[in-house]
Amino acid sequence: MTFRDLNLNTPLYNALDDLGLTNPTPIQEQSFNVISSGADMIGIAQTGTGKTFGFLLPILKNLKFSKQDNPRVLILVPTRELVVQITDELEKITKYINVRILGVYGGTNINTQKQAVAKGLDILVATPGRLYDLAVSRVLQLKSIQKLVIDEVDVMLDLGFRHQLINIFDILPERRQNIMFSATMTHDVDAMINTFFVNPQRISVAASGTPLDNILQQRYDVPNYYTKVNLLNHLLNDKEDYNKVLIFVAFKRMADRLFEALETTFNDECCVIHSNKTQNYRLRSIEQFRRGDNRILIATDVMARGLDIDNISHVINFDTPDFPENYMHRIGRTGRAEKEGVSLLFSTEKEQKGLQLIEELMQMKIPLIDFPEDVEVSTELIEEELPKIKEHYNPTKRKFDEDAPGPAFHEKSEKNKKENLGGSYKFKIAAKYKKPKTRGDKNYNKRNKRK
Ligand code: AMP
Repeated sequence: MTFRDLNLNTPLYNALDDLGLTNPTPIQEQSFNVISSGADMIGIAQTGTGKTFGFLLPILKNLKFSKQDNPRVLILVPTRELVVQITDELEKITKYINVRILGVYGGTNINTQKQAVAKGLDILVATPGRLYDLAVSRVLQLKSIQKLVIDEVDVMLDLGFRHQLINIFDILPERRQNIMFSATMTHDVDAMINTFFVNPQRISVAASGTPLDNILQQRYDVPNYYTKVNLLNHLLNDKEDYNKVLIFVAFKRMADRLFEALETTFNDECCVIHSNKTQNYRLRSIEQFRRGDNRILIATDVMARGLDIDNISHVINFDTPDFPENYMHRIGRTGRAEKEGVSLLFSTEKEQKGLQLIEELMQMKIPLIDFPEDVEVSTELIEEELPKIKEHYNPTKRKFDEDAPGPAFHEKSEKNKKENLGGSYKFKIAAKYKKPKTRGDKNYNKRNKRK
C-alpha cells in the first residue's frame, strides 16, 4: 500500500514527497479510515510507529479552509517536548496548506501565547495545564473544537493530569470527535475511555506485532506474591546468567514493595523506577542499569516506555498484565538488535485470564516450566490476595483500591470543590484591618457624639 491509496490531496502528497515518505506505516493505514469516518478512536501505539502522521493525515485531509479565528483541532500532549515535536511535524506536513498552527506549554510567558492565540489559529497543540489557563482567561475560545486528539494518554494519567483533562472536557463542545493514543493500556486509560468516549473503535499496532523469534518466552505458575518473591530470589542468585534483568510490575505500590523485598538480598544491585520517583532519580537508575552498575531494574509499564537498553538478558513479568499489549511492550525490551533474550512470566491462578489474552494475541502458547523444587512455596498472603469478606450492603463505605477506576471521573471540578467561605471581599478586608470588619451600626458615630 502507498499513500496514493489513501486518496489524500496534492498539497499533502507534495509534503510527503518532500519528506521522502511513500508507504504508510500500519498505524497510519489502520487509523486513516476510522478517523476520516468521524468515529471516536483509541490507538494503541508507541512513539516510532508513525502515529503522529496517523492522526494528522486524515484530520488535515478533511480540514476545510476557514477564516474564523477559533481553533478547530486540539491536540493535547503531556510534555513540552512533545508539543515542540508535534508542532514540527505539523509544520512539515502542512508546508503546502494554508493552515494556522500554534504550540503552547507551561513554564513560559503566557502573555506572548495570548497574543499568538488572538491572531487566530486552526490547530492548537498544548499541554493540559497551559491550555486550561488560556481557556479560562477567555482569550482562547474552545467552542469550535471539532476534533480532540490526546496523545500519550497513559503518561498523562500517570503524571496526574486526570483532573485537568476532565476540566478541559467540561469546556469543550459535546459534539466532537475524540482520538486518543496510548502506548499501554492501563485501568485508568480504560476508565477514561468508558466514561468519555462514544463507542470508540480500537486499533492496535502492538496487536499485530508477533513476538521476535530471538526472544525465548517461558512462564511459571506461581500461587501468590511471596512465592513469586522466593522464585525471583532463586533465579536472581544466578548472577552469570541473569546479568541484566528488567522486572515489570503493574503498579507503583508493587514496585516499591518488590524493591524492598529484593533489597535485603541484592542490596546494591537493584534499582527501581516509577512515576513517583523524581526525574533525576529515574535517570540515574536507568543510567546505572544501562552501564551495568546495577544488575536489576524494577519498573512499571509506563516508566519503561520505549526504554532502549542493550543486552537485557531477561525481562521478568512479575505480574501478568491484564492488557496483552503491555506484555508485548515489556518483552520487546529484550532481544534487541538481534541479540538473544529471555522473557519469563509469573502467573497466579487469578492471572490466568490475562495469560489467556496474551496467548490469544500472539496466537501461540507460552511454554510452562516446572516450579523449581528447592524454592519455598509460601502460604502467606498479602492484603490484596486475601479473600474478600462478604459485607452487608453498606453504601457509605468507600472502596479503597489503588487500581479501581471508581467514581474518579465524576468528581467535582476544582472550581466546584471550593467551600463557600463568605466571598473574597471579607478576606480582603480582614487582611487589611487584621480582623473581620463588620459593616456595623451606621448611626454609631452620631449616637456617640450626642452623648
Ligand atoms: P511517530 O511515531 O509519530 O513519533 O513517528 C516516528 C518517526 O517516523 C518520525 O520521525 C516520522 O517522520 C517517521 N514516519 C512517519 N510516518 C512514516 C512513514 N510512513 N514512513 C517512514 N517514516 C515515517
